[in-house]
Amino acid sequence: MDKEISVGVSNRHVHLSAEHLERLFGERYKLKIKSQIRQPGQFAAEEKVELLGTSSLPARVVGPVRKDTQVEILKEDQKVLGIEVPERLSGDLEGSPGIKIKGPRGEINISRGVIIAAKHLHVSDKELKKYSLEEIRVIDIETQNGKAIKNVAVRSGPNHLSEFHIDKDDARLYGLENGHKIKINKRHP
Ligand SMILES: [Zn+2]
Repeated sequence: MDKEISVGVSNRHVHLSAEHLERLFGERYKLKIKSQIRQPGQFAAEEKVELLGTSSLPARVVGPVRKDTQVEILKEDQKVLGIEVPERLSGDLEGSPGIKIKGPRGEINISRGVIIAAKHLHVSDKELKKYSLEEIRVIDIETQNGKAIKNVAVRSGPNHLSEFHIDKDDARLYGLENGHKIKINKRHP
């Protein structure tokens, strides 16, 4: 039997560049850690920002700062904000829409960076062998309640740790919660 992997459900959140963090929260501002998340070095911050579209929505900041500001929203948020957003993997921001973001000390208007996070599996470079995922970029998985999810991207690197990431909307659709388990059904070379 294939090894089980934990599920991590993500809500609406933003990653900020160092420059944007200062513009929203003030000079030399440091994010406060609310809770560590499973991916090494990453944390949910105490801080929240407002996403300003046709209506506004709060979004938690996930740290640490990154090279590029990235906003990950839920499918249902598109209507509220009045924007259409592509489903992408983190970091793939080419051609994605921008948005206005408000913090306690200022506002920024990003020209791109809003995405709906595509479902993906994180594994460390070392875990690639354990899960037989060398050279594998896409997998099909099965949830602990027997539902199949196809075309899940595999993301690996030294700072990843095995976890299946799915956003809140899709998690609801598949009956998944934080800490549930999935297993790999099929590996597409
Ligand atoms: Zn992820």
